[in-house]
Amino acid sequence: MPDANITVYGAPWCPDCKRAKQFLGEQRVPYEWVDIDTDEEGRRRVQEVNNGKQIIPTIVFQDGSILVEPTNAELAAKLGINPKAKREFYDLIVVGGGPAGLSAALYAAREGIETLIIERSGVGGQAGTTERIENYPGCAQGIGGAELADAMRVHAERFDVEILPAQAVTGISAQEGYKMVTTESGDEYCARAMLLTPGATYRRLNVPGEEDLIGAGIHFCATCDGPFYKGQELVVVGGGNSGIEEGLFLTKFATKVTVLEVRDRLGASQILQEKAASHPQIEVRLNTTVEEFKGNGKLTSVVVKDVNTGEIEELRPGAVFIFIGLLPNTDFLRGAVDLDQWGSITTGLTLETSLEGVYAAGDARSGSTKQVASAVGEGATAALMIRQYLEKTQGSRGYKGD
Ligand SMILES: Cc1cc2nc3c(=O)[nH]c(=O)nc-3n(C[C@H](O)[C@H](O)[C@H](O)COP(=O)(O)OP(=O)(O)OC[C@H]3O[C@@H](n4cnc5c(N)ncnc54)[C@H](O)[C@@H]3O)c2cc1C
Repeated sequence: MPDANITVYGAPWCPDCKRAKQFLGEQRVPYEWVDIDTDEEGRRRVQEVNNGKQIIPTIVFQDGSILVEPTNAELAAKLGINPKAKREFYDLIVVGGGPAGLSAALYAAREGIETLIIERSGVGGQAGTTERIENYPGCAQGIGGAELADAMRVHAERFDVEILPAQAVTGISAQEGYKMVTTESGDEYCARAMLLTPGATYRRLNVPGEEDLIGAGIHFCATCDGPFYKGQELVVVGGGNSGIEEGLFLTKFATKVTVLEVRDRLGASQILQEKAASHPQIEVRLNTTVEEFKGNGKLTSVVVKDVNTGEIEELRPGAVFIFIGLLPNTDFLRGAVDLDQWGSITTGLTLETSLEGVYAAGDARSGSTKQVASAVGEGATAALMIRQYLEKTQGSRGYKGD
């Protein structure tokens, strides 16, 4: 990015470099990336500013100041992000500023419900970091994920939603009818009601090339991205229920789908296995791992290994879809609200969790459909349920809505 004012020196294998890059990306802060594994000048620069040591990430800012291995909180402080909300008490606290949280917050705030969103990174969630969303109603030409996230943020702020970014919520509790959250900086905020929208994270293979090619030939959603690959051959990684189901779905577009499974058998249900076995466009390769993704801005090949023979092969599919698990971001909720066996938050029909006055919506909710449109819809529903809850528990508060 030529006009970036921040330079991040690091290497693809360095987890803290990935975290720092992700944080800057989610805050929509442009930066230039220098891979010191391949850039000799960059490596020299890192050693120069670290007294001969090679410590990464080393981040150089426009004013010449340097942060070495900064935490997200240190990065946030450097970017001038205030670590505290304006008040300690709100009608509603929303945990997570993805599509579900932003939609709920704007609905609630428009009803006069004083709302704070606490977001561990930058608002927009998974959608905000998605290259392009083609199936969001009303956006016939598709819309950039960052553009959609910004539009949702502006819309929420128009109704005076307060947003506290770059602060993870580390715990929640209920005390005498009030809902409390604690943030990573140790601050506590209190509300009459709470909405949990912490979303989920697709599990990655963590092999070379993966990070850089996500959205450019590596995908996690067949419904969202399958239609781009009509008439091409595709690879699916993961032979569990999701991998086989999504692989079968992808045969609607692809001429052939090769499913790679690391173990010596598929983990999918018997019926799905039979469907895959009898499908003429599906090939299953067991005992196969992905070693590397290759490409330059766009995926060109996938290096795979037969774990029994050690034989290496290079496949050249149009794209790779990875289905090796979706992890709900709910570790901080364990013991506070009921979770299902996969860690997703269970709710009743009104989207209320096991804790009274605490609701959940979006990808982190058990049974949710993992789409932007459904996350937005669930957020709106939750806000209306919360309005009813607040009216019931507080009496009439003179909300602006009806
Ligand atoms: C690569 C990719 C492509 C996709 N493409 C499409 C597409 O084309 N069409 C489509 O419909 N869907 C797509 N999806 C799915 C879609 O993005 C999600 O369904 C949607 O974003 C879910 O919204 P959400 O608000 O429930 O959760 P998320 O978007 O996951 O947002 C949750 C937010 O909560 C924050 N958070 C988590 N834990 C905490 C905490 N402890 N404290 C504070 N904040 C926290 C997170 O940082 C995040 O910002 C895609 C997903 C991915 C990963």
